[in-house]
Amino acid sequence: MLDESVEIIPLIGPKQKKYLEQLDIFTVQDLLFHIPYKYKDTSNIIPIEQLKEEREGTILAEVISIKNTWTRYRKVITKAVVVDETDKINIIWFNQSFLTKNIRPGETFLFEGKLSKKNNDFSNPAYEKFSTNQTHLGKITPFYPETAGITSKWLRSRINWLKPYIDKILEDRIPNEILKKYKLIDLKKAIKEIHFAKDFEGIETARKRLAFDEMLNISIQIEERKRRRQKKKVYKVKKHDKEIKKFISSLSFNLTKDQKKANEEILKDMQKTKPMNRLLNGDVGSGKTIVAGISAYNTWLSGYSTVIMVPTTILAKQHYKTFCDLFEDLNLKVQLRISKKEIENSKQPQIIIGTHALLFNTQLPENTALVIVDEQHRFGVNQREKITSSKAHYLTMTATPIPRTLTSIIYGDMDISLIIEKPKNRIPIETRFITLEKREECYSAIARKIKNSKFTEQAFIIFPLIDESEKIDAKAATAEYEKISKTWFKEIKTNLLHGKIKENEKNKILKDFKDKKINALFATSVIEVGVDFPDATMMVVESAERFGLAQLHQFRGRIGRGDKQSYCFVLANNLTESSKRRLKYFSRNNSGFDVAEYDLKSRGPGEVYGLKQTGIPILKVADITNFNLLNTTRSVAKYLDKKGLSKEVKNNLFY
Ligand code: ADP
Ligand code: MG
Repeated sequence: MLDESVEIIPLIGPKQKKYLEQLDIFTVQDLLFHIPYKYKDTSNIIPIEQLKEEREGTILAEVISIKNTWTRYRKVITKAVVVDETDKINIIWFNQSFLTKNIRPGETFLFEGKLSKKNNDFSNPAYEKFSTNQTHLGKITPFYPETAGITSKWLRSRINWLKPYIDKILEDRIPNEILKKYKLIDLKKAIKEIHFAKDFEGIETARKRLAFDEMLNISIQIEERKRRRQKKKVYKVKKHDKEIKKFISSLSFNLTKDQKKANEEILKDMQKTKPMNRLLNGDVGSGKTIVAGISAYNTWLSGYSTVIMVPTTILAKQHYKTFCDLFEDLNLKVQLRISKKEIENSKQPQIIIGTHALLFNTQLPENTALVIVDEQHRFGVNQREKITSSKAHYLTMTATPIPRTLTSIIYGDMDISLIIEKPKNRIPIETRFITLEKREECYSAIARKIKNSKFTEQAFIIFPLIDESEKIDAKAATAEYEKISKTWFKEIKTNLLHGKIKENEKNKILKDFKDKKINALFATSVIEVGVDFPDATMMVVESAERFGLAQLHQFRGRIGRGDKQSYCFVLANNLTESSKRRLKYFSRNNSGFDVAEYDLKSRGPGEVYGLKQTGIPILKVADITNFNLLNTTRSVAKYLDKKGLSKEVKNNLFY
C-alpha cells in the first residue's frame, strides 16, 4: 500500500493527484511523510464571553441560524448566529456559500479564529463539527506545506483516513539497539505523533526520530560512495623526496605550514594502490595551485600523467600559464585542452589542463595517475563519480567556504586537507559596509587612489545580477557604468563586462585589465573565480544585500592577492535589520568559513549561494547545521554496514 498511488485514498481523483504532485506527493508513503511545518493548539476551548474579551480563540457552540446574503457587488456573505451557556455571537464568512450546506441550525460546532475589528463579528473562523474524534479543531492542529487546490484542512482529512493503516503498513527497520542507544521512538509512533499530536513534547520526539532517519539516509549514501571507490585499484606513485625538495626551494616563496602538510598528505596517499580521494579545501588565495603543481610534478617524476580540470576556459588558460612557468626548466610537457580534439594518448607523461566540459566524459590517457578537479563552488557529487573509472588518484580543490556539516555531506566520502593559514605576504582585506550617502565619497576615493598609485592599482565594481532579470540588470549596470565613468571616474580607464558579452571579447577585456589598459573593471557577471590580478586592490559591490555572504566572500577573493593593502566596499541601502546585521558581520569577518556558517544559520540552506543546483538535499526535518546528529548517523551508518544491514535499512528510509 505504501508504494501505491494516492488515488487509492477516497476523494483523491486525477485532479487532486495532479495538485499533490506539485508537493512531490505521488504515493501513500509520500503523503504520510508530508510533514507539518507548524502546529496550532486549539484544544483550549473557551466560553463565548471570554472570546469577546480576548478577541481570539476556539469556542464550542450551537448553531441557531445560518443564511447567505448577497452584497451589491454580488459577493456572498454567510451569516450565522451561535450560542453557548455564556453568550451568543454573530459569525460571518465571505465567498463560501456552500457553508449553509455543511453547517446547519441545531448542530454543535467548534469555531476557531479572530473577531473582526470593525463590528466584533467572529470573522471567517475555521470550523469543525463536534464529535468524539476531532480532525481539525479542539486539538493540536497541524499545518502542512500547501499548494493550489490543496489546503491543510483537506490534507488533514486525507491523512486521517490513513490513520488506521499506519501500524500495518509502516515497518521500522532500524535495529532496536540503535533506537535504544539514541533514545529514539518507533517510526510508526513518530508518524502518528507528527500528524495526530497530543502534545508538543510528542511532536518533538517525533521530529527527533524523523530527523535521525533523514541524516541516516545521507550517511548511508556517503558510506556507499566510499565503498564503491575503495574496490578500485590505481597506479602507485612513488614519492620523490629529493627532487620535490629541490623544486620547492626553487620557488620564489616559502610554502606555508598548511601547504606543506597538504603536500605530505597527498603524496602519501598516492603511494598506495587504494585510490586517493582527497579534498583540498582552502579559502581563495590560500595557494592551492602550487600544491596541485607539486603533486603533478611528483606524478610526472614517476612516469605518469596528470589531468587538471577547471570550470572555465579562462581559468584553464591561466593555470596553463602558471604551470608552464613553474616547469619551465624541466622538460615536462604541459598541454592545454580547450577544443574538442581527441587527447593525444602519448606514452610520455604530461600535464593536461582543460575544462570540466571537455574532459569529464573523455577517455583520459592510459597513463593518467592523478586527476585534479578544481571545482570551485560548483560541487557536484554525482559528476565527480563519473571520472573515477580510470586508474587515477583523485584530488578535488574547492575554494567554497562551506560550513562543517555541509562539507561532510558533500565531501563526506573524502579525506580532507585544509589550508587555513594564508601566505605570509598577505595583508587582510579591509571591508567596509557603507550606505548610499557615502557612495560618491567612496568612488572619488577610489579614483584618487588609482591616480596616486600612478595607475598601477586597480578596482572591480560589481553589480548584482539575478538570472531571470539578466537583461534588465545588464541595462541598469550599463547605465550606472556610463554615469560613474563620466563623473567620478572620468580620469580613470574603465570597461564593462556582463553576461551578454561574447567569450572572445571578454577574454580581451580581461587581458586589457591584466595589462593595466583598464584600471576599473565594472562587472555584472563575476570575474571568474580564481582569476589572479595581484594589483586589484579595491572593490565595490553595489546592492550587496542581494548577495549571500559566501558569494560576497568569493567576490572579495578577487582582491587582496598581492602584497598591498586591499579594500572592499559593500554598498547597500533600504536594508532590513537582518540584512544590515549580515553585512556588518561580513565586514568584520575575513574568514570564508565563518561567513558561510553565519549565512547558513541566518538564511537557511536553500538561500545560501550555490546550493540550489548542487543536489545537496534540502532537509525536511533535520537541521543541516546539526553536526552532532550527522556525526551520530555516520557512525550508525558504519555500524549498519558492518552488520550488513545498510541496504535493507536504507530501502526503508523514506527520506
Ligand atoms: P587559490 O588557493 O585561490 O587557488 P592560488 O594558488 O591562485 O590561490 O594562489 C594565489 C597566489 O598566491 C598566487 O599568485 C601564488 O603564486 C601565491 N602563493 C601561493 N603560495 C604562496 C606562499 N606560500 N607564499 C607566497 N605566495 C604564495
Ligand atoms: Mg585557484
